[in-house]
Amino acid sequence: MPIATREQYLAMLDRASAGGYALAAINVTSSETLNGAMRGFAEAGADGIVQVTTGAARFASGAAVDDMALGARALAEYAHVLAERYPPALALHPDHAPPEGFDAFVRPLVEESARRLDAGGEPLFQSHMFDGSTLPLDENLRIAASLQRELAPLGVLLEVEVGVVGGEEDGIAGPAAGREELYTTPADLLRLVDVLGTGEHGRYLLAATFGNVHGVHAPGRVRLRPEILAAGQDALASARPGSRFQYVFHGSSGSAEADIRAAIRHGVVKVNVDTDAQYAFTRAVADHVLTNYDGVLRVDGGVGRKAAYDPRAWGREAERALAARVAEAAQLFGSAGRSVLS
Ligand SMILES: [Zn+2]
Repeated sequence: MPIATREQYLAMLDRASAGGYALAAINVTSSETLNGAMRGFAEAGADGIVQVTTGAARFASGAAVDDMALGARALAEYAHVLAERYPPALALHPDHAPPEGFDAFVRPLVEESARRLDAGGEPLFQSHMFDGSTLPLDENLRIAASLQRELAPLGVLLEVEVGVVGGEEDGIAGPAAGREELYTTPADLLRLVDVLGTGEHGRYLLAATFGNVHGVHAPGRVRLRPEILAAGQDALASARPGSRFQYVFHGSSGSAEADIRAAIRHGVVKVNVDTDAQYAFTRAVADHVLTNYDGVLRVDGGVGRKAAYDPRAWGREAERALAARVAEAAQLFGSAGRSVLS
């Protein structure tokens, strides 16, 4: 199918909410990782999301061009062309855009979506993240509200972050594990509802933090408290009966399955998978290189083996391994076998 329409994307999220499962959101950096992610969703029969960070987008543009907006656009165009051949529905999303990077990264992509809509098409990306977690909450929400009201007429969702995700992703460092600011509070979430509403000003996804940390850490260092998400839902239900947050889980890699399941039970509809996807891809490349080192390399005056050092040889293995990891994520998150198209 083509990339999910605006209506299909809302249906993907709302069915996840209603069905108590979550969509996997896989970070990609290249055509190969994108192919692996799409294949994984297809193998699992799961709708899904692929996303790019600013650094991934810059990488995808090539070092000589080094333009994050252009790299993100190139990967999205690639996905729009190839997603036609995959059965489940796929949505596209740029990951963390910090305040200082928003204009350079997101603004050109929104303009491209507006151009496509004017021409009778669908947006390039179905949602955008504004990561104002480094700002004081009021400032974060003030900017988020203006972006929400800008994106809503386009039918494009905003993802906002309240609280701070710890660890490091793509050169952006948060606090270390175990710190108080890693845990958001019902008061902060109600403040968010005051400013962003519950859909009347435009739909949004909420990265509320509950101790989550980017990256994989030694056992015991990260303490997830999914009950914080439940407390947020309870506070919202008291303030606005019938409303429910659609949460995003950042930094799921390395988390205990029980914590992931609990977070989904409490309303997580999008689980980001970056580190584990990176590892699955690179693990397969390393395996190929280490078991075929005398073919990949020209050792001791030899000529190597073209079939071993052809980038497709290790690229195929990497694509297969990433696809398997994505399908595994879809199983765990409950989205396997669930598509708005079937
Ligand atoms: Zn994140």
